[in-house]
Amino acid sequence: MTLTGGPSLPQERKLVTSIPGPKSQEMLARKNAAVAAGVGVALPVSIVAAGGGVMVDVDGNSLIDLGSGIAVTGVGNSAPAVVEAVTAQVQQFTHTCFTVTPYEGYIAVAEKLNEVTPGDHEKRSALFNSGAEAVENAIKIARHFTKKNAVVVFDHAYHGRTNLTMGMTAKNMPYKDGFGPFAPEVYRVPASYPYRDGLTGAEAAQVAITQIEKQVGADNLAAMIIEPIQGEGGFIAPAEGFLPALQEWATANKVVFILDEVQTGFARTGDRFAADHEGVVPDLITTAKGIAGGLPLSAVTGRAEIMDSAHAGGLGGTYTGSPISCAAALATIDTYEKENLAARATEIGAIITEFFAELQKNDDRIGDIRGRGAMMAVEFVESGSKNPAAALTSAIAKHAANEGVILLTCGTYGNVVRFLPPLSISDELLREALQIVADALAAN
Ligand SMILES: *Cc1c(COP(=O)(O)O)cnc(C)c1O
Repeated sequence: MTLTGGPSLPQERKLVTSIPGPKSQEMLARKNAAVAAGVGVALPVSIVAAGGGVMVDVDGNSLIDLGSGIAVTGVGNSAPAVVEAVTAQVQQFTHTCFTVTPYEGYIAVAEKLNEVTPGDHEKRSALFNSGAEAVENAIKIARHFTKKNAVVVFDHAYHGRTNLTMGMTAKNMPYKDGFGPFAPEVYRVPASYPYRDGLTGAEAAQVAITQIEKQVGADNLAAMIIEPIQGEGGFIAPAEGFLPALQEWATANKVVFILDEVQTGFARTGDRFAADHEGVVPDLITTAKGIAGGLPLSAVTGRAEIMDSAHAGGLGGTYTGSPISCAAALATIDTYEKENLAARATEIGAIITEFFAELQKNDDRIGDIRGRGAMMAVEFVESGSKNPAAALTSAIAKHAANEGVILLTCGTYGNVVRFLPPLSISDELLREALQIVADALAAN
């Protein structure tokens, strides 16, 4: 089947087979015979084209996309500006290895990141391939700068699947189970989870800080890293004041304060970065997912004196800051700004919040509706309690998939449905998908 992706794809939900269809099932059989079992798939429909708010599969079904490939295609799949920039770049050159012979695209992305990330201090950036790689490098840089070793992470955190970032990630299944031993000097402290801990931001920060002081000691601590809205852990937005209190403590104690904005960055939460919501300025920020319209790229950006502390040759990699990904990133960041997609994210968030707030009046299994912008979630609980309703949550995602809606779940307790639509989705498609989620809830 040949079909061109991008916004010109018919913006409709259309099912011509059951999900997954026969051709997707054939593909799944090939996958199972050829691909390592550890590489699981959430929904085994094989995609042939995507754009706007839909994905079309090999059987000709058109599904509504509420996942954006996990918050990646914020500007939409095959966004025209990205396709154009990438096409032009591959015709010029595909690779040099920036640390052998440099090129402008990498430098231009660094300049752009230094400009748009929080804070107006002097900054430097370094580019990598994946979110996990950015996080690893942020830790490397913080350790090199402070000459200290310990790293503080939080409950419910997700930072990746490489050895160091696995150890920094909270959830055992599926991310860590059987994959140890993990890197030393990583210490976990409580996060702010307003729905479940009932604490103010200042109180939650005090709990974390006390634990750090008693169990780690600021003199040993190189870095504290946190997602400003926790992603895989359940789209947990901390109580107001939590992040500023942590930042203040870190600064006072010569601890590098790192925000992991791999999932929250670039318009997704309705601001340029989630940190902007409370005016928090991190020492270092890690970015990836939404940065390049689907091409692999990540970055660490931060204070010049910290970033410049590592010696030449200490940071890099064969493919880091690929010219193709850099071309895509420049076009992507430009698109967020030109099309004011942060404002669009806020509109999407308002539609989702209003929709579930209405349903919640008559269904107390909707425990919490939270998030910001187009990074929204609903936490499902058993009626009359706050007990996590994980089975209900997977049933909802399955029902939605059968009806042609790609819906992701998350959360430490597996009871959170998350909404991460591409910012190019129409209101009509979004509302149609939300109604299907409501139908799924009613049916379960
Ligand atoms: C996805 C994610 C990562 C890991 O990124 P990869 O590109 O999958 O390595 C790290 N941190 C956060 C907050 C993420 O959401």
